[in-house]
Amino acid sequence: MKIKTKDLRVRAGESVDLKKWATGVSALYSSKENYAEILREHVSKLSALQELLYAHNRYSVLLILQAMDAAGKDGAIKHVMSGINPIGCQVFSFGRPSTEELDHDFLWRTYRCLPERGRIGIFNRSYYEEVLVVRVHPEILAGQLLPDLPEDTEQVWQDRYRSMNDFEAHQHRNGMRVVKIFLHVSKEEQRKRLLERIDNPHKNWKFQSGDIKERDLWKQYRAAYEDCLSATSSKTAPWYVVPADDKLSARLFVSQIVLETLEDLNMGYPETTPERRQELEAMRKMLEV
Ligand code: ATP
Ligand code: MG
Repeated sequence: MKIKTKDLRVRAGESVDLKKWATGVSALYSSKENYAEILREHVSKLSALQELLYAHNRYSVLLILQAMDAAGKDGAIKHVMSGINPIGCQVFSFGRPSTEELDHDFLWRTYRCLPERGRIGIFNRSYYEEVLVVRVHPEILAGQLLPDLPEDTEQVWQDRYRSMNDFEAHQHRNGMRVVKIFLHVSKEEQRKRLLERIDNPHKNWKFQSGDIKERDLWKQYRAAYEDCLSATSSKTAPWYVVPADDKLSARLFVSQIVLETLEDLNMGYPETTPERRQELEAMRKMLEV
């Protein structure tokens, strides 16, 4: 079955109302075994394309994952990237900025983590937090040492969207393909998952009391996400809203989206020129004596 991702894509300039975007879908698989089979197929294709990306050495791919707590970012990364050569893939998680990072513009720390040509980079949270958590918590913005902070902070978010769009367009022109995924989980499903973290001793470590506080700000986060998705989805760096109430389906969507991003690239293995052929044949002779 072909998994359709087109409907999950936010079109450039589209105004997003998350209540209208599904958090649940009819399962993309018929059984757990069938899920594992589809995922295996995706991963094996991804692995082959990643090798081609590496050999071709012109493009890189950056996958950005954003979501509310317990939406399944970590699991998606773990399962989708399993089986990919670790040399060709890097994952970075972005938490609260350090003092050093706060002494620079908000994109500075991103630069040090961008995937090199030939590689896939994954951001577990990203610079998008700058218009999400920072927007929901005005005290964070107040602590960012910015000069001339306007009283009405609306302009700040607009400026940041512009910086993000410009940054992504610049990266695109230079060979990076940016694809952004919002794992869209319902508040009820989050409640179940947080309870599971309390009930299951092996998951206790994942439970953070802060998660409950952020949950109380659900509406504010939703509004911030809606504004952000509407302002920063572009043709070259699109956002996808992936229904995430079913973790397994979400993983199949994510792997399919990364796969399509790689398939869309016009890549081939570097050609062997006649001179190089001669050189290789000469080397063969040396090895054969
Ligand atoms: P998960 O991403 O699975 O929730 P976590 O909570 O264990 O992981 P941490 O590294 O402890 O991860 O924290 C991530 C926290 O850092 C999140 O609450 C996020 O909102 C916050 N954060 C990320 N970027 C920024 C930023 N630029 N400014 C302020 N807070 C940020
Ligand atoms: Mg957390």
